[in-house]
Amino acid sequence: MNRSLSMGACVGMILMAAVASAETVAGLPVHIQRLSPEVVRVWVGDAISSTATVAVATTKGVLVVDTTGNTVIDGELRGIIARELGRSDFKVLINTHEHGDHTGGNGAYADCDIVGHELVGAGMAAAQADKAQSLAWYATRIPELERELAAQPAGSAAMATLQEQLTVTRLNHEALASKNKPVPPTKTFSDRLTLDMGDTAVELYYIGGMHSASDIAVFLPKHGLLLTGDTMSDKWLTDTPGCLASFVARAGVRHDFPLLLENWDLLLAKKDAVKVLVPGHWNGELSRDGFAARVEYVRTLWNGVNRCATEGGDLAALQAELALPARFPALVASPGFSRENNYMTILALWTNVTGQESAADRLYALVDEGQGNEAIGAVVTERGAKPARYFFLEGQINYAGYRFLQEGKVPQAVRIMTVNRDLFPESWNVHDSLGEALLAAGDAGAATASYEKSLALNPGNASATEALARIRNGAAVPGTNVR
Ligand SMILES: [Zn+2]
Repeated sequence: MNRSLSMGACVGMILMAAVASAETVAGLPVHIQRLSPEVVRVWVGDAISSTATVAVATTKGVLVVDTTGNTVIDGELRGIIARELGRSDFKVLINTHEHGDHTGGNGAYADCDIVGHELVGAGMAAAQADKAQSLAWYATRIPELERELAAQPAGSAAMATLQEQLTVTRLNHEALASKNKPVPPTKTFSDRLTLDMGDTAVELYYIGGMHSASDIAVFLPKHGLLLTGDTMSDKWLTDTPGCLASFVARAGVRHDFPLLLENWDLLLAKKDAVKVLVPGHWNGELSRDGFAARVEYVRTLWNGVNRCATEGGDLAALQAELALPARFPALVASPGFSRENNYMTILALWTNVTGQESAADRLYALVDEGQGNEAIGAVVTERGAKPARYFFLEGQINYAGYRFLQEGKVPQAVRIMTVNRDLFPESWNVHDSLGEALLAAGDAGAATASYEKSLALNPGNASATEALARIRNGAAVPGTNVR
């Protein structure tokens, strides 16, 4: 689809167009991009968002950054790299982070030092622990892709895309089902590390937090190359950006934001010494301005969260203050950003700074377990406590109610939405949502009262007006309007 991929629009003048030869690996087209006489970037596929491996010739041997995720493919790509660089003395493999599409092919470099952040191994082990679940996923996904493929007109672009997806999915399935064990890094670091590769210094910086727990950036001063893994991209070359699709801090992932910001600053301070920024997948680009804007964004959120937490401020008010359209209009349409990602990132930072838990998550768990009013009350009475154990967000608790509705757990939805109504009695939206749950439960009388209360608080609430009309007309059949 994108065989004549040009990276010329990127900041790098030294980039040359990728060459798609007739060469294939495992039935997938191979792309070879020269970044300099001593640096080559290779990947497979035209349509899939595959990982691009960067290989550098140094006086101490060949250095490789990331595998494509599969030892079959990576074993063949290793041969292609050797041919392109004219040497086969592979010495070091670096993993930019723990994800399988960057580490799954490590076995093809088991004779090398494998370098990564100290959390890469744990991330790989956690993925391995989910092996049974992943195998089950492949068992349904492969026939599904086969059916989709069979339904496409021969020679269509959709057919070519599906064929690539199917090829890679089958290979990854075989690799997972095999007895081959994952090959984690043999040399790890926590904050920063510089590798001496003779004529080429290789600077490694921990930049985990916005993609996975273990991301690093790799800077090669000699070549002016900054490899940023999957952490960000400000231009997508296809409409399926894959791992580059979001820029967000995820709950449950270990974050060290002071260190992240410190290391980003060190990289930004290099200014013109950074000539080209290279994301970890072939179908993304990153400009220096895009990088700087993302650093500034995270710094603003981090400072805002710390200030608010220190002053004992309100998280909901902070969410409004730091809302994407209001505070960062220039980033609204920028790749990787969304209102939801922004909201999630603020929550993750808040949890990181305050150590507080989400009341919504706790309440959801308690209601789902069928716990009594005492357990629910113990959480609710914590609201406003100092120090606070939980943070209470009306929108998050409301969302938990809709989660129950989607799961068909109507009584649980009514229960958690009732708790939310009691917590936020002045919110027209919680009354509206509760009305919906009550209607789903078949209690038209209580639903009517809830919708009427919502309308009293917000006469412009059209959804309540419509729901009341439907109830009056008898059109609102209980249990059928669950969404
Ligand atoms: Zn990734």
